[in-house]
Amino acid sequence: MTINGGISFWHAADPGGTPPARAPLTGDTTADVVIVGGGYTGLWTAYHLKTAAPDLRVTVLEQKTCGYGASGRNGGWLYNGIAGRDRYARLHGLPAARRLQQAMNATVTEVIETAAKEGIDADIHHGGVLEVARTPAQLARLKAFHEAEAAFGETDRLLLGAAETRARIDVADAVGATWTPHGARIHPLKLLRGLAAACERLGVTLHESTPVTALAPRRATTPYGTVRAPFVLRCTEGFTASLKGQKRSWLPMNSSMITTAPLPEATWQRIGWDGAETLGDMAHAYMYAQRTADGRIALGGRGVPYRFGSRTDNDGSTSPATVTALTRLLTAFFPALAGVEITHAWSGVLGVPRDWCATVSLDRTTGLGWAGGYVGSGVAASNLAGRTLRDLVLGDTTELTTLPWVNHRVRRWEPEPFRWLGVHALYAAYREADRRETATHTPTTTPLARLANHISGRH
Ligand SMILES: Cc1cc2nc3c(=O)[nH]c(=O)nc-3n(C[C@H](O)[C@H](O)[C@H](O)COP(=O)(O)OP(=O)(O)OC[C@H]3O[C@@H](n4cnc5c(N)ncnc54)[C@H](O)[C@@H]3O)c2cc1C
Repeated sequence: MTINGGISFWHAADPGGTPPARAPLTGDTTADVVIVGGGYTGLWTAYHLKTAAPDLRVTVLEQKTCGYGASGRNGGWLYNGIAGRDRYARLHGLPAARRLQQAMNATVTEVIETAAKEGIDADIHHGGVLEVARTPAQLARLKAFHEAEAAFGETDRLLLGAAETRARIDVADAVGATWTPHGARIHPLKLLRGLAAACERLGVTLHESTPVTALAPRRATTPYGTVRAPFVLRCTEGFTASLKGQKRSWLPMNSSMITTAPLPEATWQRIGWDGAETLGDMAHAYMYAQRTADGRIALGGRGVPYRFGSRTDNDGSTSPATVTALTRLLTAFFPALAGVEITHAWSGVLGVPRDWCATVSLDRTTGLGWAGGYVGSGVAASNLAGRTLRDLVLGDTTELTTLPWVNHRVRRWEPEPFRWLGVHALYAAYREADRRETATHTPTTTPLARLANHISGRH
């Protein structure tokens, strides 16, 4: 039987069990920096602030438990993708965007080294990222993507033919792949919990079960009291729309995942995947997967893309239709898995800005800052954001504070029902484009997908 929800597989199947909850806020207090949200962004910011300035009083307020959001639910791709890089190249020039990309490449190593330094065992395997093409149109996009990445300085990326691809991972119908070393497989929740513990060792105050109901310059209000601080940092990503005044800032995009039961050795011998690369594809409604440390496949993709009124899911529970669709996708990739037991299914939200550009910002006059809008590439980017927020709060001008994503402003999403209609039409178009490309073997991206990209502002 499939466990549906339970926040995520990483929570539901954690052999360490759920750690004791941290105490909520109990009355009014003060801090030097108050951070809203106990995900990677909030915790990396707290960690780096406290490491750089140990006397700083840093408080994190988390509405549920640390890791309740996408940071405790994601696919465990710690990789160098950064949403909006191409637009930043258009806005600020190629050299600036290359600096952002190089900072992201270095961030993958930074997270791995920090985890080792802090004694965090997050099942990290530095096997790189393998993205496969399974149709001629996907292959054309893959080659263009590969060349574009080289132009951004990724000269260590490899382009693989069909046989080389299938020698690494035997994905059915694979016609080619691109592999980059700038990625690692992780257990997302173990990283999150280890990071939260490292923050506490440094003296960061973490309050759980403490929802922030209002954010204003120099204060964060909760039902249990107000924290006053010169700096108030919003690190709520996909949940941002639930904050007053933020309804149309970042759209909470849904992403859903399934895991198989641990696979027998004979199945692994057929599939390969000895390098434990993170695995993705070049479909418009793309998938992402990892071989977990305990021998399962965890695979994700787009189910119901968006809920009317920017609502979020109920502890990760996922529609049966989405579980069926992801299971079909799994067996399309790996026919040997037909009939495999799906043990867990869950969903989460990620933050999508109207121009699909991740940002990190601080307004020094109000002391309000924020970071996010990573569009599904936030596992590593949140670390870079945390280090950048540190420098912005400390008032230092550094290599990080001059990156092109700093203080980028974006227009708001359309009001409902246009938001809901637009996102659903967009993903219907992507699904149809994927279907046509598979059915017709067209060698180029269908006009429908190009149109959808143009309208959405995605590229
Ligand atoms: C299913 C899924 C798969 C993904 N896979 C990948 C992947 O493989 N690789 C990758 O790079 N990215 C992936 N992502 C995206 C990535 O997980 C996120 O970008 C990243 O975790 C964002 O971290 P965050 O701290 O900004 O947000 P979150 O982890 O969402 O944390 C925000 C926190 O704020 C809290 N909060 C919200 N509102 C309030 C409030 N009012 N008061 C107090 N607390 C509040 C929430 O409870 C939550 O804990 C995935 C996302 C999902 C949903």
